[in-house]
Amino acid sequence: MPYEIVIGLEIHAELNTKSKIFCGCKNEFGGEPNSNCCPVCLGMPGTLPVLNKEAVIYAIKAGLAMNCRISEVSKMDRKNYFYPDMPKAYQVSQYDIPLCYDGYVEIEADGQTKNIGIERIHLEEDAGKLMHDPNGQGTLIDYNRAGVPLIEIVTRPDIRSPKEARVLFENIKSILEYTGVCDCQMQEGSLRADVNLSVRPTGQETLGTRTEMKNLNSFRAVERACEAEAKRQIELLEKGLKVVQETRRWDDSKQESYPMREKEESLDYRFFPEPDLVPIVVDKTLIKNIKASIPELPGARKKRYINELEIPAYDANIITSDMKIADFFEEATKVCSNYKLVSNWLLTDLLRLVKEKGQDVMQKLTAQKFGELMVYYDKGEISQASAKKVLDIVSETGEEPGSLIERLELKVQRDENLVESIVKKVVQDNPKAVSDYKSGKTKAFGFLMGRVMAQLKGNGDPEQIKRLLTRELKSLME
Ligand SMILES: [Zn+2]
Repeated sequence: MPYEIVIGLEIHAELNTKSKIFCGCKNEFGGEPNSNCCPVCLGMPGTLPVLNKEAVIYAIKAGLAMNCRISEVSKMDRKNYFYPDMPKAYQVSQYDIPLCYDGYVEIEADGQTKNIGIERIHLEEDAGKLMHDPNGQGTLIDYNRAGVPLIEIVTRPDIRSPKEARVLFENIKSILEYTGVCDCQMQEGSLRADVNLSVRPTGQETLGTRTEMKNLNSFRAVERACEAEAKRQIELLEKGLKVVQETRRWDDSKQESYPMREKEESLDYRFFPEPDLVPIVVDKTLIKNIKASIPELPGARKKRYINELEIPAYDANIITSDMKIADFFEEATKVCSNYKLVSNWLLTDLLRLVKEKGQDVMQKLTAQKFGELMVYYDKGEISQASAKKVLDIVSETGEEPGSLIERLELKVQRDENLVESIVKKVVQDNPKAVSDYKSGKTKAFGFLMGRVMAQLKGNGDPEQIKRLLTRELKSLME
């Protein structure tokens, strides 16, 4: 390919704090418009902000989880702009000294592992939401979201394909979820990405002119938007035209982007230090304590599953990409130590149930019961068909697998004397099949086996039935 694609992401994540960043209003999604705001988050003259310590802790946690360095002293700055989503006419953000900087996140895409640099993670406040009146009477504003704490994660332009952009976004989402920093409800907008993209002839050092696409709120949208924008820019260059530096709006339903406005330079925002807030001073003990509170992250978990539990990489990737699934798997393997079996059933049958019936299935079922069921199956005490049946019922009712197996008489019947007597009876009752078998029709054997299995209500051990039936037929032929 004669062109190289260069992508950087800016990811906005709302922090999981109890209250907003500068006031005591609840940090909650939704609610009656403008029911969750106060003079501080409405930016009334004369009010003063107080920085929420919890927000700083979450931001540092995200930074450490993405291998960043933490600024011991940083500050908040005013980013001035005039737009009604921010009644103060400025957003409190961080300009030249971000809280976290110089980190990286590992990704695996197209069979290659590489690190994507994290240039900075800074703390800022979210803005209100504008809604256009459906009657065309004007624009309505809901300030419930104003003052919700955000982090902006800015990557280096290290991404080289739409696929890498998607995988990076997925990995960052998992990290934020594992650390509890963000609830990652993308449909509610609590996690969203801006894409900066440019193209250049392969081998050229200097970067091409880039465009920005804002507020992409699904992995697929990020990948598609990158594909379409790269194609658009390459077509312009091929025609000898120039790419204009601008912000574009991506319409995922139409899979097209439209120019929104010319890109502002940071000078346009006239940043200056926020005079109403003191600098943020972070001591080493706090950093140490936050570090200690970070759980095992998805990347490390994935490696452990592959290396220690010998789970295939593909499976380990799916399991660890969702913390709830990974925790469920982990709990279940404490009960059933056949890890591969647990992983297979989880990825096929359990995820099928989740898809059909929703996440509640996992609460009804519980990892404990799932593990117990796997033990029954692993020991050969129930057949595969019975295990599926039990899984379906337990996920509906929450019944103990053990008592359900008893009640429905699903245990595999291996009593040698009993099975032998059934075999003898089936042979006696089916002279036609027996004579067919004697004359060389092997199909008749399967028929007889099916009769025995039916007598055992499907709970026979096929190996045992096969052995006993062969012996019985052989004795008749002597
Ligand atoms: Zn408030």
